[in-house]
Amino acid sequence: MGAEIPFRESFYLELPGDFYKPAAPSPAPSPRWVAFNAALARELGMAEDAVAPDLLNLLSGGAPANGRGNIALAYSGHQFGVWNPLMGDGRAAIVGEIAAPDGRVYDIHLKGSGPTPFARRGDGRATLSAMLREYIVSEAMAGLGIPTTRSLAVVATGAPVFRDGARPGAVLTRVARSHIRVGTFQYAAGRDGAEDQGPIRVRALADAAIRRHDPELAQAENPYLAFYRAVVARQARLIAQWMLVGFIHGVMNSDNMAVSGETIDFGPCAFMDSFNMRQVYSSIDAAGRYAYNRQPSIAQWNLARLAETLLPLFDADAARALRLAQEALETFQPLYAEALGMGLERKLGLRAGAPDNEDIFALLWKALGASKADFTNFFLHLTGIAEGKAEADGLAPDEETKAFLAAWRAALDKNDRDAALAAMRAANPKIIARNHRVEEALAAANEDEMAPFERLCAALKHPFDLAPEHADLQTPPRPEQVVHETFC
Ligand code: AMP
Ligand code: MG
Ligand code: MG
Repeated sequence: MGAEIPFRESFYLELPGDFYKPAAPSPAPSPRWVAFNAALARELGMAEDAVAPDLLNLLSGGAPANGRGNIALAYSGHQFGVWNPLMGDGRAAIVGEIAAPDGRVYDIHLKGSGPTPFARRGDGRATLSAMLREYIVSEAMAGLGIPTTRSLAVVATGAPVFRDGARPGAVLTRVARSHIRVGTFQYAAGRDGAEDQGPIRVRALADAAIRRHDPELAQAENPYLAFYRAVVARQARLIAQWMLVGFIHGVMNSDNMAVSGETIDFGPCAFMDSFNMRQVYSSIDAAGRYAYNRQPSIAQWNLARLAETLLPLFDADAARALRLAQEALETFQPLYAEALGMGLERKLGLRAGAPDNEDIFALLWKALGASKADFTNFFLHLTGIAEGKAEADGLAPDEETKAFLAAWRAALDKNDRDAALAAMRAANPKIIARNHRVEEALAAANEDEMAPFERLCAALKHPFDLAPEHADLQTPPRPEQVVHETFC
């Protein structure tokens, strides 16, 4: 035996038994570390020597960490608006949890670790490139300071996965504040409704969620309503943060929204290069339901589904419960607008709350739409201008951009120069996980060449503080390099 495995039993095991099913171990033929996030391991308080052979076996799904074994979680969900009463972890399992030095408890979850009772016709597996994609993008989000699940490791299994041909298979270790999804509440409500014994499961789940995420709310006058309001607030802030960096989740199904407020489930997600308000990358989102500009309204739609499950806990009187839910949901829009506005003020170096800021934001969106500027680099050009560099440098010469620049410069001059520059430098990332760079790293990894992946991850760790040797990662794709579609 190597070092002691630091994972303890999961809190899901305290929930009623129909919330999970055993996930049988599925040993990989020849597990091999492909990526290990040593910085995250340290944050979690894992000992250096924990990266032992037994950990490799455990994180490839070959052995359980605890006596009661790994579990696959049950959940329901609306997939592209269509109700699916039973989804669950078809290819994923919780191995346990870890109490980290930050005082928080984190789920340790494997993705691609073999078929579970929820797998139906799926093979329970994941490709190396899909798992590395989640690793890169989730860690990029963390680098940007955006709430997200993290990636601790990717282990290649040594077994092929069959998609459009044989691909290398892998297992990702995801670290999350929890895996309680809107869809988990939908599942609980569905089971409760089938038995007509009151909201037993929804209450158990809500109590567990409050203990995990909002322990102080247990003392509130109406803890369940307070919890719901907290979830709404977290999502409003989260979506604003996505919008401010041009992130498009791609699959905002209700099962892919966590009550923790972390970004979860990185499938066909992408950062936008050239600006388009209606940008869609996901190959499976033909109707554009999850386009860039639809993310706030879809989040509200999912939150309405969450409220429906909690109604009986809000108030015994159904009409009053509905009114309370509506009032709580209506806080989304102002909270979102506030978070977006404050973020834009920082990105543009504007004085907080100045009266003409809203007009400048409107001109900004117009300029971006008309010029189709590279979203990330547009703001870096503005920082350059604020630093005193030549104005026209790299910005489109169209009327909309000129109108924005004139209004913005006038507003910028009214702000304290040092404060404006400090805000802009801290709010405008120098690099994002550009799609063509992600694809390049994944293609190389499929050929056992990990250097591009490692280089990209190293740069994305500090997106506001780019090392000179990573400057090439700022360059937008040439026309032939543009990735038009992403796959999950
Ligand atoms: P996602 O699109 O990642 O949110 O997954 C939707 C559902 O499909 C979840 O219930 C997954 O567990 C399940 N699923 C996705 N891929 C597989 C697979 N290869 N084998 C079994 N289940 C899968
Ligand atoms: Mg999912
Ligand atoms: Mg997925």
